[in-house]
Amino acid sequence: MLSKRAYNFNAGPAALPLKVLERAQAEFVDFRNTGMSIMEMSHRGAVYESVHNEAQERILRLLGNPEGYKVLFLQGGASTQFAMIPMNFLGEGKTGSYVMTGSWADKALKEAKLVGETHVAASSKESSYMSLPNLSNLELPESSAYLHVTSNETIEGVQFQSYPSTGNVPLIADMSSDIFCRPLDITQFGMVYAGAQKNLGPSGVTVVIAREELLADSPGHIPTMLRYSTFLSNNSLYNTPPSFSVYMVNEVVKWIEEEGGLSGIEAKNRDKAGLLYQTIDNSGGFYKGCADTESRSLMNVTFRLATEELEKLFAKESEQAGFIGLKGHRSVGGLRASIYNAVPYESCSALADFMGDFQKRHG
Ligand code: PMP
Repeated sequence: MLSKRAYNFNAGPAALPLKVLERAQAEFVDFRNTGMSIMEMSHRGAVYESVHNEAQERILRLLGNPEGYKVLFLQGGASTQFAMIPMNFLGEGKTGSYVMTGSWADKALKEAKLVGETHVAASSKESSYMSLPNLSNLELPESSAYLHVTSNETIEGVQFQSYPSTGNVPLIADMSSDIFCRPLDITQFGMVYAGAQKNLGPSGVTVVIAREELLADSPGHIPTMLRYSTFLSNNSLYNTPPSFSVYMVNEVVKWIEEEGGLSGIEAKNRDKAGLLYQTIDNSGGFYKGCADTESRSLMNVTFRLATEELEKLFAKESEQAGFIGLKGHRSVGGLRASIYNAVPYESCSALADFMGDFQKRHG
């Protein structure tokens, strides 16, 4: 048994459920009586394939088995999706529409600009991305092939609470930092994607959930491994998949089922985030939340102190006290507690206590 677990607030790769790590450890060397690790076996064999298919089935089951949706396992991280989306969908005369909400939306747009025509449909840049734009009266160009949103901006700590209806234009969401943190009506989306390393498992696999018809007819002139259709028609086994990562995703999704599915997970996430935001809001201004109250993220709690010196001291003292990963992203500074699905409530209550104590000493 593991004796000590860190209070892990890393932004990604991030905390994984202890139960999952222990299960993986127990079957690490000899997987299902094969005398081999899952990492040592052929991806063409029945044992690996059953894990691969099981992971896809569990993901769809969590979403209520929506008709017409498929799960793909890709590599190259969410960053590769920033390029694959325009490469696959921006044919002649088509436009990629983007909602600008922060650092990751910005990267997605930059990549699309390398490939084809783009349009900024809405932006909250003027609020330094500390709020979300109003999407109720979106006007999309006729030529829009899709509307891309970032459901949760990991760096700024803002998260959409609802999504616009986009009619015939497929809505595509980068859900890298909040997938499966709450119930998800996938039928609102043409496609969602996420690098696994926050809420789904270890790094190495990117999960795409999309309507089959969107994935089916990728342009033939783009490289084989960059076509969604290659993954669709080969059950994501055209080449060697990241088999250990897929195995871990299956275990993490199994754990989500055991935690009461997406609504069970959401209740826990609301308790954790609620506690930290309450600590910030009740500090009499000692701690200041970065994001506007209505746009606050359940996953990345961003906050500041009065001076950068004090923030540095907080980062240093918290680390000495066993709290990992609280320094904000280098691009924005401040502090950030990433509290993904697998971060236990106990870590958050220990952090809230530490924050109270730090305030007493330095307030
Ligand atoms: N989108 C979001 C919202 C992210 O948080 C990240 C990673 N932190 C990425 C995209 C990039 O993911 P990857 O490292 O898997 O390319």
